[in-house]
Amino acid sequence: MIITNLKDAKQILEAGELLAIPTETVYGLAANGFNGKAIAKIYEVKNRPQFNPLILHSNSLERFKEWGLFLPEAALQLAKKFSPGPITFVVPKSELIPDIVTAGHTTVAIRIPNHPLVLELLAQLPFPLAAPSANISGTVSPTTALHVEKQLGKLIGGVLDGGACTIGLESTIVSFVHEQAQLLRLGGLSVEAIEDVLGMPLDKSKLINNDNPEAPGMLSKHYAPATKLRIGNPEDFLDEYNYDEMGFIAFEKANPNIPISQQLVLSTSGDLEEAAQKLFGAIREADRLKVKIIIAEEFPNEHLGRAINDRLSRAGRN
Ligand code: AMP
Ligand code: MG
Repeated sequence: MIITNLKDAKQILEAGELLAIPTETVYGLAANGFNGKAIAKIYEVKNRPQFNPLILHSNSLERFKEWGLFLPEAALQLAKKFSPGPITFVVPKSELIPDIVTAGHTTVAIRIPNHPLVLELLAQLPFPLAAPSANISGTVSPTTALHVEKQLGKLIGGVLDGGACTIGLESTIVSFVHEQAQLLRLGGLSVEAIEDVLGMPLDKSKLINNDNPEAPGMLSKHYAPATKLRIGNPEDFLDEYNYDEMGFIAFEKANPNIPISQQLVLSTSGDLEEAAQKLFGAIREADRLKVKIIIAEEFPNEHLGRAINDRLSRAGRN
């Protein structure tokens, strides 16, 4: 059920039911972050592996402080500049946080989402919201209320409609547990922007192995459409497929040989932020074309292009 008012949203959460929430990154599947039973439903509905921890959301750093969670100085600098926004901080967990949120880890991931409706909802709630993306594990993340309603509508209390996500990629995750801040997931805030504020590089060694246990959500197969997806140029695939059998996700320009109705151009002006915002919707659309293969162009490996390439390469392990 798609809903639009906060009173209904609150009621669903207070009853221990799941509510899909809009954020600027992707839609989240939220439960009362202090209610273990409600949180267990997130894992059940998403078919999410039990070892994959969730992100806790609230509307201010003060709230997190009240719950025993503290950001070190470097994280505070980032929060001052980018929160509310698409950055998640991993910090030591407090007693108050149920183990099911952190999947048994001694650390917890926290974020302040930048969406007016959800900030208002969070301000009215006496608890944080535990929320991963609102999709079945391994499938493409939702960026509209309708995406969620179609996949999970019958299984959850409601979907709060806040329009299309403005960033369209999950948050960038940075851990502050070790001396040097560690990048755990590429996302909607660029590495360049983060390093600029920190004045030093992030430790990126945890990104190399996608199946590393410290960021279990970085499982290598993720965001998978049903149609085979590969990265490259259409010309590279002519041995096996002809142009009519291809769908193409392009950055700036369509391919002259593929039927135009089978192509999704993400930003004709070459804007990586616009491309990121449209990416997941485009993967969904390409999947509906019933082509034999979806080919996605490789994006420039800078700014949000890195996170776009990361999501495409995971989608391409199907
Ligand atoms: P999702 O919102 O579905 O993308 O999932 C939340 C992401 O946060 C996953 O990639 C998790 O691995 C990551 N995450 C949550 N808590 C932690 C934590 N304590 N340490 C490292 N990564 C975490
Ligand atoms: Mg997810």
